[in-house]
Amino acid sequence: MQLRIGNGYDIHRLVPGRPLILGGQRLLHPDGLGLDGHSDADVLVHAIMDALLGALSLGDIGLYFPPDDPKWLGADSLLLLEQVASLVRSRGWQVVNVDSVVVAERPKLKPHIEAMRAAIAARIGLDPDQVGVKATTNEKLGPTGREEGIACHAVALLQQL
Ligand code: MG
Repeated sequence: MQLRIGNGYDIHRLVPGRPLILGGQRLLHPDGLGLDGHSDADVLVHAIMDALLGALSLGDIGLYFPPDDPKWLGADSLLLLEQVASLVRSRGWQVVNVDSVVVAERPKLKPHIEAMRAAIAARIGLDPDQVGVKATTNEKLGPTGREEGIACHAVALLQQL
């Protein structure tokens, strides 16, 4: 059985006047902050896309969805994830599982985790139990700890069809 593993990382700035979208879910930050970016700035979905692409050495999401291309302005990252998932399938691979950890001080992500897993799984063609989404704070340390941004780490395991 041919297996490949990939990892992905992303971070976006927390700023006023932007929506906070994680795993396709619109959340409310207690200070009204959201994630800055060209697309919807969904760091969780971006990290997962990079893990999927990385597993097959297909580059990163900047290659497929350049941040200076007006086409992707405000883009729904779940739609981009769908495209990455179909690229993986077209190369003859299927996703075994995905795991991720979002690093954010606030808001509390726990009430939204199940919805995030379901949304991500649906776009990749997986069951929710094949998509891990975890949340941690950074114990107020560093840029994520100071709430300058939200970061995410992800891994993906692929199996050749
Ligand atoms: Mg990003």
